[in-house]
Amino acid sequence: MKAKTFLNILYGLKVHVLARRINFRNAVILSYHRVASSNTFEELYPGMIVTADNFKLQMDFLKKNYQIISLEELISAKDKASFPHNTAVITFDDGYYDNYEFAYPVLNELNLPATIFISTDFIEKGRSFFWDEVAYMVFNTKRSNFQLQLGNERVSFNLELKSQAVTQLCLRMKQLSQMEQEIILDTLSAFLAVPRNRAVSNFLTWSVMKEMQQHKISFGAHTHSHGASSVGGFNEIMSDILKSKEVLDNKLSQNTKIFAYPFGDKTDIALDVSQGLAKYGFKCAVTLEAGLVKIQDDPFLWKRVGIGGHDDRVRFALKTSGVLPLLSKFKAKMQGC
Ligand SMILES: [Zn+2]
Repeated sequence: MKAKTFLNILYGLKVHVLARRINFRNAVILSYHRVASSNTFEELYPGMIVTADNFKLQMDFLKKNYQIISLEELISAKDKASFPHNTAVITFDDGYYDNYEFAYPVLNELNLPATIFISTDFIEKGRSFFWDEVAYMVFNTKRSNFQLQLGNERVSFNLELKSQAVTQLCLRMKQLSQMEQEIILDTLSAFLAVPRNRAVSNFLTWSVMKEMQQHKISFGAHTHSHGASSVGGFNEIMSDILKSKEVLDNKLSQNTKIFAYPFGDKTDIALDVSQGLAKYGFKCAVTLEAGLVKIQDDPFLWKRVGIGGHDDRVRFALKTSGVLPLLSKFKAKMQGC
């Protein structure tokens, strides 16, 4: 049976309603990246972009079925040892300008709080994320394939499947230092005969963030350089995190207490970093590990439910209620057997 048919059957049986009743004491923290006017870029970043229309439908669904609170309120609830029933929290990573253009009007209209995690160096310098530069080059080249030396390995990329090539390369690049990433971008540019576009990512500005702060939008740290919290030594990683806190504190006149791990998989988070954040004034840190948050969970490893372009009404309901994260975990376990 096709996965889509299976999910439609679960939805038809209202398994998500049952799961929501079972999981009413747990919180769901949604994680978005980008919201766009249409799905023009869908092919490029299937996991990252939600259309504005879908975002509106999702927020309406959430408002009808959940108590939507801010991440700061969830932390206070954790301190009191009980989450409000059926709680949802809305978060965005990376600080793309489209969050202001397309998500913020919907959040404002529905009077919903949200948190956006910012990698401060990109706002300060206006430089681009490496994945945006890779995507730009891959989608503008006339070449049909390329090879790159990555560590000891010579890796081939087939550009008939551009989106797959971008994902495949970016997954490898996230494990490298910023200097190594720059070398790969230069090599790629020469090889694909596409000049680098260092201004391809479009970010929020400080003035827009200040405006959003007045309307229930808070801002959390996402490191200064968007380096994985597992690449480099503890001091280097922590100083990058603290730099983003310092910049946010100064620019937005706030005391930043919340953090999102860049890339956010288990392998992107060093244990000493998650254990060290509390000493530097942080109250919680969120990952991109899929799942609901239980009251007893470590607040420096809170899971989230990632929402992307593939998430239609059925998948959204099954994801937020905890059904899809549970099925994914089960599938991973079966594959590991
Ligand atoms: Zn990020």
